[in-house]
Amino acid sequence: MTILNPEYIFGCPQCKVLFLSDTDNIVSPCPVCGFAVVSKVDFKYQTPNIELILPDTSSPQSFETLISEFIQPTKFKPTRLNCESLLRNMKKIYFPKWLLDVSAQGNWNATVGFDYQVESAKESYQQGQWISQKVNETRTNWEHRTGLLENTYNNILADAQSKDNWITSIIKHSNFQKSEVYSSTLKPLVLIIPDITPDQAILNAASNLKKVMSTECQKACKAQHIKSFDIKNNYTNHNLSLLIFPFFHTWYQDDEGNPHSIWINPQTKTIAGDRHASTKSASKYAMILFAVSLTSLLLTVLSGFLSAAIPPLIIAAFLLLMVTIITAGVGFYCLIYPSQWNKQNQKYWFKKSAD
Ligand SMILES: [Zn+2]
Repeated sequence: MTILNPEYIFGCPQCKVLFLSDTDNIVSPCPVCGFAVVSKVDFKYQTPNIELILPDTSSPQSFETLISEFIQPTKFKPTRLNCESLLRNMKKIYFPKWLLDVSAQGNWNATVGFDYQVESAKESYQQGQWISQKVNETRTNWEHRTGLLENTYNNILADAQSKDNWITSIIKHSNFQKSEVYSSTLKPLVLIIPDITPDQAILNAASNLKKVMSTECQKACKAQHIKSFDIKNNYTNHNLSLLIFPFFHTWYQDDEGNPHSIWINPQTKTIAGDRHASTKSASKYAMILFAVSLTSLLLTVLSGFLSAAIPPLIIAAFLLLMVTIITAGVGFYCLIYPSQWNKQNQKYWFKKSAD
């Protein structure tokens, strides 16, 4: 069932991902790569049938603690890197997977394993005598089997999007068994358009289908194990539809105005994204500390001179010297921290999409 209005298609010039929206108010920046500008594009797209959806009733507010704990380790946060701003910018986006229904026939061969029990004994020498203990051991007998398989398979999953970034890292643990039949009453909806073609999806689904067939043949043999499964099959009656499942995207601007993205999988409560440390904010602290350090240095020198006349001032000079060294050290740490931290949080997806 397809309800999306094909009039509203948006594209990202950076990662080339297209979005289908039932409103003309799409999120910006790009919910896939985080690039600043997403705009309407003139592109005709026939939406595939959406068959299943992974349901989710989460509200952005339900992620307040998750976000708070995620951003907490970042020192010198940009002004807009805060819970309130991130919750306000949060939007639910749907990610696609292809679902393949297919009839398959073919001759198969495999090596299957049957477990059996063997009773043996373990001899040990204790307190001057040999003691025998019974040991039950499981062994596997491997046999070669062949057969003919003819069956219809529904909802074999295959990737619909080829982008490899932090979204894929958070959504890969989703449990698609909890999917439900899609209802057109679901609104609003922003859906990422598949960039893997139906023909490619059928090829990609073949490996998942082979696993399902392998399990079936193992059951037919009443075996406990299977290996070297091979089938020469023909596929007929292909039918492709979509399973869609949600993730939440939010973003904030750093002090230079550049956007940074954060993604949440509502089912697994997994969060990933860019926790940016602000060079501007850190520099402000560093300048204050250097001013304190400089003042302390001057007082150290002054106390040093005066200690010739007033000996106890040598203690004050020593303490002031410590203050000078510590404040200067912390000041340098403030200057170095943002670049070190941001390097650790480097956006590898951004580099990939720029290729
Ligand atoms: Zn993008």
